[in-house]
Amino acid sequence: MDTVRMEGKPVAEKLYQAIRSEVMDLKRHGIVPCLAVILVGDNPASVSYVTAKERTCEELGMRSVDLRLAPHVTTEELISKIQELNADASVHGILVQLPLPEHIDSRKVLFAIDAAKDVDGFLPYSAGLLMTGQPGFVPCTPAGVMEMLDYYQIPLQGKHAVVVGRSLTVGKPLALLLLDRHCTLSVCHSRTPDLGTITRQADILVAAVGRPQLIRGDMVKEGAVVIDVGVNRIDDPTKPRGFRLVGDTVHAELLGKVSYLTPVPGGVGPMTIAMLMKNTLTAALKSHSTG
Ligand code: NAP
Repeated sequence: MDTVRMEGKPVAEKLYQAIRSEVMDLKRHGIVPCLAVILVGDNPASVSYVTAKERTCEELGMRSVDLRLAPHVTTEELISKIQELNADASVHGILVQLPLPEHIDSRKVLFAIDAAKDVDGFLPYSAGLLMTGQPGFVPCTPAGVMEMLDYYQIPLQGKHAVVVGRSLTVGKPLALLLLDRHCTLSVCHSRTPDLGTITRQADILVAAVGRPQLIRGDMVKEGAVVIDVGVNRIDDPTKPRGFRLVGDTVHAELLGKVSYLTPVPGGVGPMTIAMLMKNTLTAALKSHSTG
């Protein structure tokens, strides 16, 4: 069987076209959608994520506010910065780049964000809206996966979806979204015995684990749609940076057996930023309609 590579880029590009035109409309009303990004410390991966988010804002005609704070900043200082951004009507979305240094109470910091500016969708209020099927901010990676499934016209209703991973940022919200679209659902995690018995039943398999190449070829059904969310660095001295990125599945063993597979990198990755931009635009549109 030919396996279709489910690239994220064309899906993200399609979204960006729509976002650009809505941004232009809003600008005519004097509103420039604005995302505030808070980065604590200088973790190289976090710096590159934050830079990519800010660059994308710029490319779309949106504004970004860049707050880079020293690694020794306290929880209270960080919360006070967030309160300033909450009170600033020209800022529509607030993102705190995770992980935060260990001495900071991440939960307290995230909970300080105004729910109307929760573009990452991590607050309990946003989770509650998702749980009850109401419109709200959906975490970006799961929202991006759903966007990809629709773009590639993957039928969902009645299909058995298996999500491996139950994090609050990826696995759990994605499970809810798939359930909402009438999939029959299984969610697996670190205590699931004999993972392969469950994953082999999947019409749609999502791996969101963070364990390099956990899912092997004999753990998937012929013709399944496989979304590999995992991004893992493994040592590779032949690469300029000394490592390469792999997903949570063994792509060489899945190719030719499954019907669709997201590459790593280049699959789900581009969708996460795209959905963040969409959420920021939504926040700006809401502030315009209510403000
Ligand atoms: P996480 O918070 O560490 O959660 C991992 C989940 O996998 C947990 O629910 C854990 O189970 C489960 N798990 C761990 N080992 C397992 C095993 N051997 N068998 C079955 N389940 C197992 O990770 P995350 O934030 O959800 O991220 C998952 C992966 O996606 C990572 O590689 C991350 O880098 C990647 N990611 C990519 C993007 C993107 O834009 N492409 C965005 C976000 C995340 P327990 O709950 O029982 O511990």
